Formats: sequence, C-alpha cells, structure tokens
Amino acid sequence: TAPIHVVGGGLAGSEATWQIASAGVPVVLHEMRGVRGTEAHKTDGLAELVCSNSFRSDDAENNAVGLLHAEMRLANSLIMASGDAHQVPAGGALAVDRDGFSAAVTARLEAHPLVTIVREEISDLPPADWDQAIIATGPLTAPSLADAIRAETGADALAFFDAIAPIVHFETIDMDTAWFQSRYDKVGPGGTGKDYINCPMDKDRYLAFVQALIDGGKTEFKEWEGTPYFDGCLPIEVMAERGVETLRHGPMKPMGLTNAHDPAVKPYAVVQLRQDNALGTLFNMVGFQTKLKHGEQVRIFRLIPGLENAEFARLGGLHRNTYINSPVLLDGSLQLKSRPGLRFAGQITGCEGYVESAAIGLLAGRFAAAERLGRSPSPPPATTAFGALLNHITGGHIVSDDEPGKRSFQPMNVNFGLFPPLEPGTSLKPQGFEGRFRGKDKASAKKRATTARALADCRTWL
Ligand code: FAD
Repeated sequence: TAPIHVVGGGLAGSEATWQIASAGVPVVLHEMRGVRGTEAHKTDGLAELVCSNSFRSDDAENNAVGLLHAEMRLANSLIMASGDAHQVPAGGALAVDRDGFSAAVTARLEAHPLVTIVREEISDLPPADWDQAIIATGPLTAPSLADAIRAETGADALAFFDAIAPIVHFETIDMDTAWFQSRYDKVGPGGTGKDYINCPMDKDRYLAFVQALIDGGKTEFKEWEGTPYFDGCLPIEVMAERGVETLRHGPMKPMGLTNAHDPAVKPYAVVQLRQDNALGTLFNMVGFQTKLKHGEQVRIFRLIPGLENAEFARLGGLHRNTYINSPVLLDGSLQLKSRPGLRFAGQITGCEGYVESAAIGLLAGRFAAAERLGRSPSPPPATTAFGALLNHITGGHIVSDDEPGKRSFQPMNVNFGLFPPLEPGTSLKPQGFEGRFRGKDKASAKKRATTARALADCRTWL
C-alpha cells in the first residue's frame, strides 16, 4: 500500500499519523523541527505543548472539552493516552507533564512499524505522487508553505494578528432589555430585517462604559510585533482611547435602531451582536475585538444592558494565527475541494486549542485511512463533540452584507453552543427531583443530556 503523508508533527499531525497507522496503513510524518524551529516551540519533540500544559476540563458530563476527551479516548487517541499516562494534579482539569507527554507521543510513533518520521521542512504543496496527504502545520506554519497554501486557496491573508471579538451564548442574553433588529430594518440576502441583537445605552452608561474600557487591564503583547492587524480591526479599547465619541460613531452607533421595549427613548449608543452559527445559539459582539484581560472582559462587558448575566463561549483576544477559510475551501471530510486527496488538520483549519487540534487530526487521519482502504469516509454525527467541531470548521457560517469581504469564520474552542439543541420533549428532570426545576438545575441537566446523547452516538459511529 502506498503511504499517506502527514506534514507537521504537532498535536494534530501526531494524532493523524497514529490513526492512519492504527488502521493498518503506512504513513510518513514530515516534521521540520530538528532542521528548522518556530517562534514558539522549544524542543524537537513531537506534539510539543507551546504554552500551558493543560488540556482543560476532564469532566465529560458537564463540559464540552471534557466530552471531547471522552470521545477521543473511545477512538483510541494517542494524544489522550499519552496525556493520561503523564497527568499531573490539576483539580478537575487534565494537565500533563509536557516533557513526559511529548516524549511518550514521540516514542509510540517511532516504535510503530508502519510509521516513518522524516525531519525536513516541506516548503511547497505536496507533490503529485503523494496522492493522499494531510497538512497539519499549525498556527506557526513555516512561511514558504504558508505562501504556497495562500496561492492555492486564493486567500488574501493567511497569517495575521488576529483580533477576536467575544462570543455570547444566546440563552444568557436578557431579551427583555435587548431586541432583534437590523439597522434601518435592512433585509440582506437570507435576512429578515431582524438579524442583530441590540443592547441600548443611555449617555451616563455609555460614558462609564468608555471609561471602563480605557481603565481595564490589558494583556501584554510583545511577540510578533509588526504582523498586520487582520481587516484593520482595531481593538475596542484602542478605539475608546481615541476619544469619547469614537465608539458612538463606530461600532456602537445608535442610528437606524428603535428600542422595541421603549420606542419613545432614543438610545445614546447601541452594542450589536450578530448571529455566529447556523443554529442561532451563539452571537458575537460586533466590533468588540479586544486585548483586555479575560477577567476584565467578563466584568466590563457585563456592564452592557442585556448582558448582565452573559456567559461567553469565547472571550476576545489577540495573537498570531494562520488558518484557512475552511467552510469555503474544505469538504465535509476536511479535503481541499480544489485538490482531492489533500486534507488539512489542526489549528490551521480554524479550530482552537490543543485538544481540538488533536481531535481534528484524529478525524483527518481516519478519513484518509478509510479512503486508502477503499471505503468512503464516514463523518461523525453532528450530535457528538467530534461532529460539532467538524461542522464548525466545514459547515455554513453567517456573512453579514454590512461588512462585505469580512471573514465570518473565526477559530473557536469546542463548546455547547456548537451542538444541535436537544430533541423537543427530552426529559431533563432527574427522577425524584423535588420543587421547581429551572435555572442552574435545568442548565446542567441540559448539558448532561447533551453529553449522554453525544457519547451514545459516538459509540454507534465508531
Ligand atoms: P502545532 O502543534 O503547532 O504543530 C504543527 C507542527 O508543524 C509543528 O511541529 C511545526 O514545527 C510543524 N511545521 C510547521 N511548518 C512546517 C513545514 N513547512 N514543514 C514541516 N513541518 C512544519 N492551545 C491551548 O489549548 N493552550 C494553550 O496554552 C495554547 N497556547 C498557544 C500559544 C501560542 C504561542 C500559539 C501560537 C498557540 C497556542 N495554542 C494553545 C493554540 C493551539 O492549540 C496550539 O498551537 C496547538 O499546538 C495547535 O496544534 P497543531 O497540531 O495544529 O499545530
């Protein structure tokens, strides 16, 4: 059997390699460290953790990343097995001894008879004689390969300072204060004139909010200075510093909006949120890209009327990143539509995090191996964490006609907002529960029902 080639031996590439070899297919892993380094990696070990040593929550019942851990363990994940073997105490989180973990991944792959590891930089798209290949070169993809990917995909930018706006769980927005309306009730393609959620502010609130943004604690950001901002999106606190009226004439302008709860009172400023996923469970804060510290974002953004109890699926941030516009470029098995046989995996596909990157590597490896064995790749059900994450990457995304050309696809960690809602009538109330069943009890019962459904569906799929 001809081998499958994997480029990049990070979290995703190592897992993809393991899955391919475990399916009985030979695989060549090309990793440049040892010959050339990156800005963040410090060793030559495979699956090096570049920053924290945490795989985050290991709670498979109540947490989406914990669920992803569980699904990966069911799917014979090398990253999870090595993480479990090198765990260090971290409460409910799975944290690992980074050196022991990376050494274990490296040793298992080196010892596998179907795996060949080559230390070299791949500086162009895979040659024609690699009929099956996976690119898993991560957020710090070496520049010449990044250029080749850009040329193939037609992307105008691939590596940039990525300023990210926070994303809020819809069910935590107070719709007795906020209301649905597009500016000037404009109806775009597929729109209804009610595409945005609007949060109103009076003058005093606005002035206090601008001051809070200016005073809020910011993250230091020294690395990679000189990389351009993507789309020219300035962090919200930088706009606030430019003058007290800047935001009111920018992302917080109140024009064309009437408070549905109080039409007589014109808002002084408005924060808008735009639907972020096809399910309508997540909304992003329009224009609110920020480098405020995470704790400060929660404190300051909860000052916004309607967001007092907001829960965030993702907070804003600023970092260098490299990722392709996967929903447009990839098919449902992570294959580049313009080059069948070439798949992408890991953070370069637009997922975020060690575990998510490894999970997408696991799927890409399985899909490629299935094809090599003459079967068609079978995508995981949308109800599993695998499927939810895969659909975020390859599925539909909302593009606003107010901001032509702006990418609507943003990298994200796995979270419950990516899962389809439970079937109507799913019973949530535990047997013997006394009293009124709502609020926190109901929310956690929903999570448990979602994770139970996911694990059952994952087992069937496997
Ligand atoms: P990587 O793990 O980076 O693997 C890519 C591999 O490809 C590397 O080994 C690289 O050497 C190799 N490579 C690149 N180009 C080539 C080429 N042309 N030829 C051959 N090999 C090549 N996530 C978290 O969950 N927690 C964190 O704390 C965290 N911190 C981060 C800090 C930084 C600075 C960055 C950039 C990202 C961080 N992430 C974090 C996000 C993400 O989870 C990691 O980047 C993760 O390692 C991504 O996995 P990956 O397999 O896609 O890429």
